[in-house]
Amino acid sequence: MKRRDFIKAAALTTTAMTVTPSLSRAESEPVSSSVKSYRAIGKTGLKMSDISFGAGKLSTASMVRRAVDSGINYFDTAPDYGQSEKTIGEAMGKIKRDKIILTSKFCNPLPYPGHLPLGTTKKEYIAAVEASLSRMKTDYLDFVFVHAIGETSKDLESEKKRLLDPEMLEAVAALKKDGKVRFLGTSSHGPSNMEDLLMIAVRSGHFDLIQPSFNFMKFPKLPDVIKEAHKKGVGVIAMKTLAGAKEMKMESKGDEFSHAAFKWVLKHQEVSGLIITMKTAADIELYLKASGVTFTAADQRVLDRYAALYSGEYCRTGCGQCEGYCPAGVEIATVLRYQMYFANYGMEKRAMESYAALKQNAAPCQGCDQPVCITKCPYGLAVKEMLTDAHSTLLFTA
Ligand code: SF4
Ligand code: SF4
Repeated sequence: MKRRDFIKAAALTTTAMTVTPSLSRAESEPVSSSVKSYRAIGKTGLKMSDISFGAGKLSTASMVRRAVDSGINYFDTAPDYGQSEKTIGEAMGKIKRDKIILTSKFCNPLPYPGHLPLGTTKKEYIAAVEASLSRMKTDYLDFVFVHAIGETSKDLESEKKRLLDPEMLEAVAALKKDGKVRFLGTSSHGPSNMEDLLMIAVRSGHFDLIQPSFNFMKFPKLPDVIKEAHKKGVGVIAMKTLAGAKEMKMESKGDEFSHAAFKWVLKHQEVSGLIITMKTAADIELYLKASGVTFTAADQRVLDRYAALYSGEYCRTGCGQCEGYCPAGVEIATVLRYQMYFANYGMEKRAMESYAALKQNAAPCQGCDQPVCITKCPYGLAVKEMLTDAHSTLLFTA
């Protein structure tokens, strides 16, 4: 969506919200697609729908019930995903809790990113989970995650400390003892040290699940991490599977890009499943058509075509190879990820709020006469231009 259209739509939505009754349309539409395959999450004893529910853009309780009716049993949310946790709480009365796997993150309910920082006490970690339980009207989480490892700091050692924080581990032990949390996970979309940090998590023995960005557009060290996780009985859930989600419908023979991308991820037997943001009932219908279906040569052709079209425009989530080179300290990969949320994920508000919270946004890029970032990107992206565009899109201005 273009910035101008978003601002117009946001104004209309605000007006409409005062007159629209409680939302149940998604629920009333007939269910035709359904989950065809469930896979083990490491050695937890749990099995998840291969295509599962990313609740980052969840706004209606009826969507949760609709997903459950379609066979989806795994729900990924966080306190910093807007109203997502509260909306799940609204759905909870009509769902059998033991039929779903519910996850959340160690976070504050702030505009993203609300990750609990290093220095958080055991008591604060516990309080954050209890607040999530209260918002979601449930007694326990199946998984709690150390959220987005590699995002808070470019420094491996500092993020390693957040990942393995003894206060956090003690909090998890206490929460498990009280029956409030069953398992521990961690997620990462970089931009710094994604693969290294996830490997540390896998080898630490503390984590039951990792959730990396993983798609067909090149993550050189990730296959090793995934294999190691499998060996150690740690579950792997893929996110950011659409490689930027630039074009959802490829024209050739009606082949659906999202199906090809999902099938590519799921052909890796070590992967327990994937999560994808589901905004509408139509998303559920569409995405579940790829559940349990084998990846084919035709799918590969769709992915090749997508790569040919967008390889030069897609900032690989989790890559971060240009990080730390900008003399002005621009958070390059993070700016470009927020731009992706705005332009391709339909998360305009969250993208703009998160951009406003950045320590160093892309303001210096327009006047930059030595764009060293361009020379550091191995994929040949027009980084300066992309950052300049992102800044004019994401900045809160009238
Ligand atoms: S264009 Fe210049 S200011 Fe912007 S990220 Fe690149 S090096 Fe930094
Ligand atoms: S701009 Fe290029 S080097 Fe930087 S994170 Fe994106 S893909 Fe990687």
